[in-house]
Amino acid sequence: MNLILLGPPGAGKGTQATRIIEKYGIPHISTGDIFRKNIKEGTALGKKAQEYMNKGELVPDDLVIEIATTRLLEEDCKEGFLLDGFPRTVYQAEKLDEFLEAHGKKIDKVLDIAVEKEELMTRLIGRRVCKACGATYHIVNMPPAKEGICDVCGGELYQRSDDTEETVANRIEVYNSQTMPLVDYYTEKGNIAHIDGAAGLDNVFTAIVNVLGE
Ligand code: ADP
Ligand code: ADP
Ligand code: ZN
Repeated sequence: MNLILLGPPGAGKGTQATRIIEKYGIPHISTGDIFRKNIKEGTALGKKAQEYMNKGELVPDDLVIEIATTRLLEEDCKEGFLLDGFPRTVYQAEKLDEFLEAHGKKIDKVLDIAVEKEELMTRLIGRRVCKACGATYHIVNMPPAKEGICDVCGGELYQRSDDTEETVANRIEVYNSQTMPLVDYYTEKGNIAHIDGAAGLDNVFTAIVNVLGE
């Protein structure tokens, strides 16, 4: 099963990805996570990406396409994959389709998770992430059992440097202008499913399972 999670920042893509990969046994590929790992390790790629990420801008297409397609060539993607946060522009989507076609593959389903802007702001500003394992929490909606500590691994929780009010507002605008056109792109291909992301975590996951099948 080759899947794409589409939706604005804060829609719940990462949160649902954790559940989807567990149920369907496919790898989770988040371009944002790959960039953050590179930033942490101080690589050249990380340094390049950081400039854009700090401002809430998109990292240049060619750089993103290169890292995503390299990742897709890895062994664990043979039986399927879940792309989260890629593609984010029509150009990226076209390049992804070319790449998949060249490898005899295609996207089976695009899950488009929609949430209104005000709720996105609240979710992103309250988001906390585990430094050690990447698990995601929310200070109100999904608080950890012990404040500041990851339930899963005991790691320290932090606030992403781009989850500030100003950067969040810009990221949502960037989504609307550069990523939203993908909804039409995949609607034309006929493989998009719309999910109401405003519902509770379990209801959103149930809606996704209804689309993908048991
Ligand atoms: P994305 O990967 O789309 O940017 P996340 O999965 O990181 O979004 O979720 C953003 C924030 O919203 C996190 O703090 C998460 O705990 C919270 N969240 C995710 N899904 C829901 C939901 N259905 N209801 C309320 N809060 C949610
Ligand atoms: P979110 O949880 O808000 O959806 P991500 O972790 O997916 O955020 O992405 C964080 C940042 O990484 C983006 O704001 C952008 O700068 C960069 N990024 C991630 N994926 C892409 C992509 N496909 N194209 C361009 N930039 C990207
Ligand atoms: Zn953790």
